[in-house]
Formats: sequence, C-alpha cells, structure tokens
Amino acid sequence: MSADERPLRSIEPARKIIVAIDGPSGAGKSTVARELAQHFGLLNLETGAMYRAFALKALRAALALDESSGLEELAAQTSIRLEPGDDGNRVLLDGEDVTGMIRNQMVTDAASRVSVFPAIRTWMVALQQQLGAEGGVVMEGRDIGTVVFPHAEVKIFLDAAPEVRGIRRFDQLGPKPAAQAEAVIRDLRARDERDRSRAESPLKAAADAVLLDSTHLTLEETVQAAEAIVSAKLEQLRAFSEYI
Ligand code: C5P
Repeated sequence: MSADERPLRSIEPARKIIVAIDGPSGAGKSTVARELAQHFGLLNLETGAMYRAFALKALRAALALDESSGLEELAAQTSIRLEPGDDGNRVLLDGEDVTGMIRNQMVTDAASRVSVFPAIRTWMVALQQQLGAEGGVVMEGRDIGTVVFPHAEVKIFLDAAPEVRGIRRFDQLGPKPAAQAEAVIRDLRARDERDRSRAESPLKAAADAVLLDSTHLTLEETVQAAEAIVSAKLEQLRAFSEYI
C-alpha cells in the first residue's frame, strides 16, 4: 500500500496529548503551561486555581481550615468550573467569576491548607480528570503526572532553588519593601513543605517525568526547553504511529 492509499491516521498526536506540568510554587509552571498551550494548540488548565476557588469559599464561610469534616460538607455543595482562555483560566465558583479574587496571600495560604485533605483531593482529581478526558491539554499542578493523569504522554517536573523561586514570587507581587522578601521566601518554603509532606498525593516528580531545573534559566529559556521536550515527544509519537 502506498503512503497515499494508507488510511488517514485519525489522531494527530498534538491534538490529543496530555502534557502534565508539576512542580513547586514559583518555578515558572503557569507561564510555561500557557506558552506550551499556545505553541502546540492545546488547552491550558491550571488546577491550582480550583483549590484556590474552594479555599475562597471556605474562607468566606469562616470554616476551620484544619478540619476535614466541615470542608467535606462544603465541597459537597460546591461547583467549580475552569474555563481556559488565552491569558489564563477563568474560574467559576458556584457560577460566580472569582478569577480576580484568588491570587492574594490569604487565599494562597488557605489553598495550601485545604488541599492536604484526601476527600478534597479525591473530589478535585475527579473534576480534573473530567476536564482533561478528551486530551489536547496542558494541565499544571502538583500531582498531575503522578495521580490525575499518570498516563500523560508528556510529564515535566519544573523545579528551581527555593531562594530563586521566592525572589520571583516577591517580584511578581509588585513594589514592596525589600525587607518583605524574606517573609515571602519563608511562606513559600512553608507551602512547599506542606505540599511535599502531605500523606495524600504529595508533590513529587513522577518516575517518568523529565526534570527541568529553571534555577539558572530565564523564563524564555525555560519555555524553550519545555517546548523542546514536548516536540521531542511528539516526534516519538509520530514515528511510533507510523508502525501501528
Ligand atoms: O499552583 P497554585 O499556587 O495556584 O496552587 C495553590 C495551592 O493549591 C498550592 O499551594 C497547592 O498546595 C495546591 N495544589 C495542589 N495540587 C494541585 C494544584 C495545587 O495541592 N494539583
């Protein structure tokens, strides 16, 4: 059979793949995920925004953030939707657009606390699996390659030295006295520690993830390195699909 006669390959790998980006805060995941999504024509889904939206609801309800039962009850009455867009995700909490309300320090801290509970994670993971079920997504978080999509075609674990991540986060927060940099680094380390040490789906690299350390890279270089990782994988998939 000549190449022309061969039935069309129904799946163009780039359209269907799942790219999982995991790593600690401040490593550059959001930018990398957004750029990869644009470059490869994929949907970008930020799972952290879902934990943040739920944390906002828990704060509004003045719930104790260290008690699972109240949070579980609240989760049962909560709907969270993520709508991917070019500039990031729109997050709908019970239908309300809370995108602009979930990036402050209070919600950041609360998200890190509510996300340790197994029942909350099970609920979120199921939602995230539904969102990515069709493929064609870049999904970013802490447990995407290990728990949400352990069979993702591409897994990148993006890391950087804590001091460097802390300074980046500090710079993102806009003009602030330099003395506050230390507090930002301290807070980031505390959240890292909570993410890495929780019993349920702790932050760690999947065994088959490609490790990308952005400590000595600019954001642009980090994005380029991530694009190269995805391109290499797509090449492999295309070559493989020629044989099946
Ligand atoms: O990524 P982002 O900083 O928006 O995530 C907010 C918090 O949600 C993180 O500090 C982390 O504790 C939690 N998170 C998680 N699992 C994910 C995404 C986020 O536990 N997949």
